[in-house]
Amino acid sequence: MPRELIDDFGRRVSYVRISVTDRCDFRCVYCMSEEMTFLPRAQVLTLEELAMVARAFVELGVEKVRLTGGEPLVRRDIDSLVEQIGVLPGLRDFAMTTNGASLPKYASRLRDAGLKRLNISLDSLDPQRFRQLTRTGDLGRVIDGIRVAREVGFERIKLNAVILKGRNDDEVLDLVEFARNEGLDISFIEEMPLGDVSDHSRAETFCSSDEVQEIIESRYPLTPTTESTLGPSRYFRMADSESRIGFISPHSHNFCATCNRVRVTVEGRLLLCLGNEHSVDLRRVMRSHPGDIDALKHAIVAAMPIKPERHHFTTDGDVQVVRFMNMTGG
Ligand code: SAM
Ligand code: SF4
Repeated sequence: MPRELIDDFGRRVSYVRISVTDRCDFRCVYCMSEEMTFLPRAQVLTLEELAMVARAFVELGVEKVRLTGGEPLVRRDIDSLVEQIGVLPGLRDFAMTTNGASLPKYASRLRDAGLKRLNISLDSLDPQRFRQLTRTGDLGRVIDGIRVAREVGFERIKLNAVILKGRNDDEVLDLVEFARNEGLDISFIEEMPLGDVSDHSRAETFCSSDEVQEIIESRYPLTPTTESTLGPSRYFRMADSESRIGFISPHSHNFCATCNRVRVTVEGRLLLCLGNEHSVDLRRVMRSHPGDIDALKHAIVAAMPIKPERHHFTTDGDVQVVRFMNMTGG
């Protein structure tokens, strides 16, 4: 059994994002449609299966695991899964992406269970607009969640903001100010063509990272940092703040040559690329060989040759990948 996962383009896979549920208490307009049908329980990986997937990847040299969804904090007993993954030897970075609404309840337990870092999504600081963008979300709870997470000791919390033209592009500087005042990092994300959303035309709302950067630089000149995530993020600093500004630009900055990551959907589909359908059914392997971690590891190793060289997203608004983001695990 190899100790590292290397694909056919010589890229080493060191990062896995695992979706722990497709469900969510929000219905963000860029992520879901208003009426969603969620998966029946039998199709969703159990907590034991999710823990086994994480262990298999870490034993194959993966150093970073991120739990996402859907909303990971609506999955029952999520803290017990975090506990099982947090103790895996060789895991260097263990993170979760959340909408933050359940952090007042969960932050302390997650920290005790071994989670190291949090990304919290926040697209608006205006309660009404926040409600419009998330359809169900309560801004006050998310702000409380951010503060509680900091109080219980999470460091370098990062906000994620998806910017849509005409919807929240006028809040870019307010979001930067909020991050500076609260001692947080913030990343601005370009909307990706995942799932067919009815709320808006993506071609009309697309706002490139370059446009967002220009707005920020009208107040704060940005200096690029040298750190690399080997993904679609690029980071910058302001002269007078610890807060870092990131741009996640799958459209306008191609990052595929250094891509180090794969994703596992909540159904156990190993996705080799966010922008392509190439995948392998790990649930079938686990259910036909219960408890056999070597069978699972063999299936993961065998999947490496089908990792595509690059994605082919465009900005013309066409849906190119029919999966919704909540299935993929952003
Ligand atoms: N529910 C959690 C949250 O919102 O942080 C985790 C899952 S969510 C799918 C992960 C990230 O994907 C969020 O920051 C969200 O804003 C982003 N996202 C969702 N749909 C997107 C899309 N179509 N394009 C770009 N980012 C998207
Ligand atoms: Fe839920 Fe996150 Fe998707 Fe919003 S972006 S609907 S919070 S999964």
